[in-house]
Amino acid sequence: VIPFDIERVRADFPILDQEVNGRKLVYFDNAATTQKPVSVIEAILSYYRGYNANIHRGIHTLAEKATADFEASRKAVKEFLNASSTEEIIFTSGTTMGINLVAQTYGRAFLEAGDEIIISGLEHHSNIVPWQMIAGEKGLVIKVIPVLENGELDLETYESLLSERTKLVAFNHASNSLGTVNPVKYMIDKAHEVGAVVLVDGAQASSHIDIDVQALDVDFYAFSAHKLYGPTGIGALYGKKALLEAMPPYMGGGEMIREVTFEKTTYNDLPYKFEAGTPNIADVVALKAALDYIAKWGKNNIAAYENHLLQYATDQLTQIDGLRVIGQAKEKISVLSFVLDGIHHQDIGIILDQQGIAVRTGHHCTQPVMDRFGILGTSRASFALYNTTEEIDKLVAGLHRVKKLMA
Ligand code: PMP
Repeated sequence: VIPFDIERVRADFPILDQEVNGRKLVYFDNAATTQKPVSVIEAILSYYRGYNANIHRGIHTLAEKATADFEASRKAVKEFLNASSTEEIIFTSGTTMGINLVAQTYGRAFLEAGDEIIISGLEHHSNIVPWQMIAGEKGLVIKVIPVLENGELDLETYESLLSERTKLVAFNHASNSLGTVNPVKYMIDKAHEVGAVVLVDGAQASSHIDIDVQALDVDFYAFSAHKLYGPTGIGALYGKKALLEAMPPYMGGGEMIREVTFEKTTYNDLPYKFEAGTPNIADVVALKAALDYIAKWGKNNIAAYENHLLQYATDQLTQIDGLRVIGQAKEKISVLSFVLDGIHHQDIGIILDQQGIAVRTGHHCTQPVMDRFGILGTSRASFALYNTTEEIDKLVAGLHRVKKLMA
């Protein structure tokens, strides 16, 4: 079942080779952020060591090399998403900024009082709050697609919410707290039938699922590099060219202009219109290294292996008395959220950490999901390509220890 040499993979991630609280680290917090392979770390180092320079306007050799690598990364993102042009790829600080950019530019320019935005009950706070902010300012109405008991979206209700008043629909490709993979193509098509534009939050999907923005016909797609073995604080927003051209800029400053006088300023062409100021050059360069790393093993191989880990973990954990898995969608990314009868998730997290096992506990920035299931939080184990079934066995043993200590 293992489509690659797991020991070779693990050797690429030096951080994994350490002890935490006297035990070999088991890192199961990949949905929060993945670890970084040596090639990504080296990309950052070699940029600062070898050719740090400001991009685009420089005529000297270092500036040209920095610009070339920066733009090569944009091309790599374009290919990663199968966008039709690099003009449609805007570098951001991550998914959060991508969503805020669309809410503050598209939302401000094209949405009017009484217009409806539909989001889903599975959203991360970053795909809720930006819409509430613009809705409050402009008198927009937010409708929410309910979540079914198994963690899937209630698509019947979604269809009944759609109307000619719906101007924008935003939902995630995959849920960070439950792992649910949403039927994005179907949901996009339904939104387009009523003329709404669609933003998909790809933060969790991008390292597990092949993305083809043209086949999906999605209007906006946002992701973060740090969820796919790249650095933190960098990501990209895809937008259809016609939409991006019609939208006003987000931030004003250098780089995003064509000509500035005190009377009138004209804006730069895409994608630079949306990239004010000196960008995070080193991390953009390293983002390409992360995409190359995924391509080296193959995203489908990675997904197949992670799915094997998810199945194994689900089988093993559900044998523990009093353990309940939250989120049993038919299609999931490798995220396993669970509660243990009568034991607070924080205690679970602390006792597992004492055994060197890193899981995430709490609401996972999805408080409405916790409210939906009547819980305060879950413990969440999320798997990446360097995890193993032996590590899952340690988690099972760790949870037995939690039960013993908390009994
Ligand atoms: N959406 C989802 C589904 C996420 O999991 C996350 C990160 N936890 C975000 C958005 C926000 O990503 P970032 O913090 O990198 O902007």
